[in-house]
Amino acid sequence: MRSIVNIPEIVESLPKEDRELFDRIYRYYVEVGRLKLPDGIRDLREFGECEEQTIVRVTNKITLESTLFNELRAKRPIEAKMESINYSLEECRFCRAEELTAEDVFGRTKGKHCVTASNMAKYDYLHAIIIFGDHDPFVCEEEKIRDYLKVARAWFEEANRFDKSARYPFFMWNCLWRAGASVIHGHAQVLLSKEPYAMQEFYNKVRKLYRQKYDSEYFDDLFRVHEALGLGFRIGKVRVMVHLTPIKEKEILMLAEDFLDLPNALSNVLRWYYGIGVRSFNLAVFLPPIGESDLCLARIVDRVDLASRTCDIGCMELFARTSVVSSDPFKLTGSLRKII
Ligand SMILES: [Zn+2]
Repeated sequence: MRSIVNIPEIVESLPKEDRELFDRIYRYYVEVGRLKLPDGIRDLREFGECEEQTIVRVTNKITLESTLFNELRAKRPIEAKMESINYSLEECRFCRAEELTAEDVFGRTKGKHCVTASNMAKYDYLHAIIIFGDHDPFVCEEEKIRDYLKVARAWFEEANRFDKSARYPFFMWNCLWRAGASVIHGHAQVLLSKEPYAMQEFYNKVRKLYRQKYDSEYFDDLFRVHEALGLGFRIGKVRVMVHLTPIKEKEILMLAEDFLDLPNALSNVLRWYYGIGVRSFNLAVFLPPIGESDLCLARIVDRVDLASRTCDIGCMELFARTSVVSSDPFKLTGSLRKII
């Protein structure tokens, strides 16, 4: 089975043009980390085969996204565990959204499977929640996701009518507490601002500089490299990439010509996520400004074990900006492609 540790041979076997494009965007190294165990603990199963561990680091030279892969980390002992998980329906305000949540000053936007509410503690001055019809947060039906996105788009337009200077939309979905959600009941969030959020602005700059230097669209080339490596493929109209420099576990990128092209791909990816045990995730969609048409980029990432009290993000991610990841993009691709 292909694996991230075989990246030198995988890249070497690419046709010349693809290898040049890979080298334009990425660099990598593969090294072995070594240690000596005292006799007393060498035979303990929890340490496994750790005396030699292969580390792969991949860096995107254009964006400086960088990831360290070490499969051993998935097997390391984690001592902090929570007692139980409470999915309780008691006192769920979102189950009675229209009675028990605030509405925006310009009213609510309603769909068949969701309704908006104004966020009570706003990140930014135009910030709403899309409350799903389902309490159970593990939604993956295409029809429901399409409805959420339609309502999101309608809310962006409504908020823009309310404040013409707000033109930059952002869609996000935090599922359960590991991903930062404070409410169990399924919900997404929408924001509209007068400046793009920092990552959107960063992408705009990257695309502009890349086009000036290479006369090519950065995201088209990123997809070509993923496709050449076997990590990129299409679900309907959407180009899907099992990200080679994931920000954390199992990150998938989806490129769509239009926001409403996404539901089918999202539905498949979520179905796969739930199937492999993902219970908490962050999903974000970067959209063009209101009134303009451009690529939409969706990013989704697993926030791992709900019962774990160890946060998956530490100094390496926050300050070194180099994510430490155990899931292998090549193995994930095999598993995702099986269900499509
Ligand atoms: Zn509920």
